Amino acid sequence: MVVTDTISVFNIQRYSLHDGRGIRTNIFLKGCPLRCLWCSNPESQSFSAQKSYNKSSCMDCKGCINSCPQNALNQDGRRDEDKCINCHQCKETCPTAARQVIGKDWCLDDLVDEVLKDQAFYQSSGGGVTLSGGEPLSQPQQAAMLISALKTMGLHLAIETCGYANWQNAEAVLSQVDQILYDIKAMDSTTHKRLTGVPNELILANARKAAQLDKEFIIRIPVIGGHNNSQENIQNTAEFAADIGVKEVHLLPYHRLGESKYENNDMEYNFHAYTPEDDELKDLKSSVEAYGLQVKVGG
Ligand code: SF4
Ligand code: SF4
Repeated sequence: MVVTDTISVFNIQRYSLHDGRGIRTNIFLKGCPLRCLWCSNPESQSFSAQKSYNKSSCMDCKGCINSCPQNALNQDGRRDEDKCINCHQCKETCPTAARQVIGKDWCLDDLVDEVLKDQAFYQSSGGGVTLSGGEPLSQPQQAAMLISALKTMGLHLAIETCGYANWQNAEAVLSQVDQILYDIKAMDSTTHKRLTGVPNELILANARKAAQLDKEFIIRIPVIGGHNNSQENIQNTAEFAADIGVKEVHLLPYHRLGESKYENNDMEYNFHAYTPEDDELKDLKSSVEAYGLQVKVGG
């Protein structure tokens, strides 16, 4: 594999207060090997940059349509991919940012400089940087180089991962961070494959190894009503967590906040699930606590 010193990023979220300790910058890497049916960042899935169109931000000025050298945009804003040559003139023309290109290749040095703009906030709050995605372990060499560079700055480093990666590559990243937020979506591999597109054996095997790295290791379970919220699945996950030495589990109730992004990115949201009520979450929390685990509902 050729390793470049650029890393593909689709979002940088500064001043985040809700994803770990202190004030954090979340770097969302592009590309994911999973296809979770409820994905709230569908624009993260493809490894390539992609064009998005947010109809609700569009003021119908027709600037993009008139500026397109290929006549690739029709009157209702849709793009003919066969005609489009990815010149991005439509994005440059748009006065409301309704047209965006999702995904940018960052030079690693520039990305480190970008992150360090908030170094004073990290130091005063005990915060740092969280790598997210997409799946950050899908760009393992680049993620390792980035984490390594940030580590020399003394920042607190966290990663959100689904764990679906070659272990050798994963270890090079995970061994350098301070906190690992590790998603487990279903303990039954067939169910896992139905919900995410991949089986779970590699994910569980990697979780077992990652838990031995002497990091703050938290298992997160997205609780998807009607799909993985059975007592059996939640208890099996808790049993697994306790068995590999994990101390803390987060239950993340299903939400539909990313649904509008599907239309913006020419994708369809065809998933039906419900958000568990507080009483159900309370019961599930108690079930996990019964394994001696500390449990938080929400991220
Ligand atoms: S990227 Fe260029 S060719 Fe494609 S729709 Fe926009 S302006 Fe037209
Ligand atoms: S340039 Fe932007 S605001 Fe104008 S029609 Fe195109 S998408 Fe809408």
